[in-house]
Amino acid sequence: MSSAARFLFPVLLLAPSLALVGDAQAKDQRPITTYEWVDSTMADIAEPNGHTSKIIYLNRCEGGCSISGGFNDSRTNRSSIIAGGSTANISAWGKGDAQWEQLVECVTALYDPYDIIITDVDPGPNVEHFETIVAGRASEAGMPQGVGGVAPFSCGIINNAISFNFANENFYANGIKSICETVGQETAHAFGLEHEYLCTDPMTYLPDCGLKWFQDENASCGEYEPSSCMCRQNQNSHRILEDHFGVGPNRGPDLDFARPLANSNVSPNFVIEVSGDDYYYGINNVEVFVNGNSIGETSSPPYIFNAPEGTTGYTTLEVRGTDARGWASSKTIEINVGESCDAGDCPAGRVCFDNFCIADSTTPGGFAATCDNDATCNSEICARDSDGVGTCTETCELDKGQCPAGFGCLKAGDTNVCWAGVTEDTGGCGCNSATPTGGLAGLFLVLLGLFYQRRRRLS
Ligand SMILES: [Zn+2]
Repeated sequence: MSSAARFLFPVLLLAPSLALVGDAQAKDQRPITTYEWVDSTMADIAEPNGHTSKIIYLNRCEGGCSISGGFNDSRTNRSSIIAGGSTANISAWGKGDAQWEQLVECVTALYDPYDIIITDVDPGPNVEHFETIVAGRASEAGMPQGVGGVAPFSCGIINNAISFNFANENFYANGIKSICETVGQETAHAFGLEHEYLCTDPMTYLPDCGLKWFQDENASCGEYEPSSCMCRQNQNSHRILEDHFGVGPNRGPDLDFARPLANSNVSPNFVIEVSGDDYYYGINNVEVFVNGNSIGETSSPPYIFNAPEGTTGYTTLEVRGTDARGWASSKTIEINVGESCDAGDCPAGRVCFDNFCIADSTTPGGFAATCDNDATCNSEICARDSDGVGTCTETCELDKGQCPAGFGCLKAGDTNVCWAGVTEDTGGCGCNSATPTGGLAGLFLVLLGLFYQRRRRLS
């Protein structure tokens, strides 16, 4: 940033109103995405690390936009891009809602490393915001044929700048991603970023190198050949954005378990299927862990894995994934693996709870084993009677007959637990809540942690 500050004033003094077109003769038919110099007579240029908004408003110009020439200010719909004294009428985004949603998702992905909010709801005249119009044609803004986008530019951040992306031009007919890359470039021009001679960066003119994102690389500037930068010695687009706006949520792919579902009971040798989505960057890699041990990874869908032999009891499943940028995300669920049962037909050492065999009191932490605290129970529920004796138990629904033989479901505060000697009305009417039998009069349950039905330990 210090070098930016050093170069800021000389450049502006030397070129106060020079209109720059990146390359008037594009080497192919790609749209020209350009910028125009502005100085502090026409824009509020932020001090380095000074105050700016953190909102970028994507405006699809529903019903058309009217932008007047003048001092750049999104709140009053004025832009130095439009000729002074005139008003431009920009026609609405012409591609429909589904493609608009893709565009918003894509721009959100481009900026999610930074503490910047992307919205398509107008923050209105009283809230500072950057605005980028994604609609209309170049001619509507007084731009020549072939211009895909234009933004005001200084070597710093232009507060409340409006940039333009002429999404209705024919060269954007079938490419949400190319519109998205233009939006990335035009919005960042207003943040002081120049064209970069780096094919994988949104600031580039170079085509055909796959997905783009703001790269953490000291690159040369230039359109079709490297050249020196105007504002800095070289340009690291990622650092400039991160230094100014701060670090964002940096989301990896959206990952979840399609099967088994969280907190479900499953038979041994179950199948694990992960669902994943990452519209812009795509999923690079998915790896699944069972109780902390990797059981496999894959780079392409379907993301299906077989549970390892011998997996039983309360089990933690975790999926970790990365997108094309290498950014990671994860999701963890817990399940219970075992034999299904009707009351009484479990193997030795297990009892039938909710049609499922779980460890009994012969296993430390098993059902009805004595306990000191929640953490010592497989279920993480240690209930105490009036004498203070703790017993591991399970949560249950009243009158459903879920509890092991000799136990019934007892209301205890805001929840219900299996308790010895309780009788339930399982006749189907569900009209009588269970009540403790005589011997349990005065039962006092200490049920800490019942809101957390996390189950960590193996039964
Ligand atoms: Zn450009």
